Amino acid sequence: MITEETLVKQIYQVMKHQLAHEKGRLRKVMIHYDSSADSIDPEKLNRLWKEIAVEPIFESSHIEVHSEAPGGCCLLCNQEFELDATTACCPFCHCEQFKIIHEPPVIETYEMDETVTP
Ligand SMILES: [Zn+2]
Repeated sequence: MITEETLVKQIYQVMKHQLAHEKGRLRKVMIHYDSSADSIDPEKLNRLWKEIAVEPIFESSHIEVHSEAPGGCCLLCNQEFELDATTACCPFCHCEQFKIIHEPPVIETYEMDETVTP
């Protein structure tokens, strides 16, 4: 279980490092996470972001959260597939034993605001 605070701090560390070579200002960071593993409140995330990311380069930037369906992996045939609420068996071999693949939240990409003049 990851908290919004932990996640924001991680994003901040990564972005600070990343933006050391960028010009302009950050517009937004896009992250995606597996919706079954953690529930992340995007509003709370952005509130914390404003408190933590205070350098001018982060001014008026925000975090965009994309959640995606988790993946499943069949225990019999080892195929990976997308899970939804109705998935009851492997779509390839129809075996009912599969595991859910949990992936930690990751930074997908980010956008810079090039139009800002210092
Ligand atoms: Zn299978």
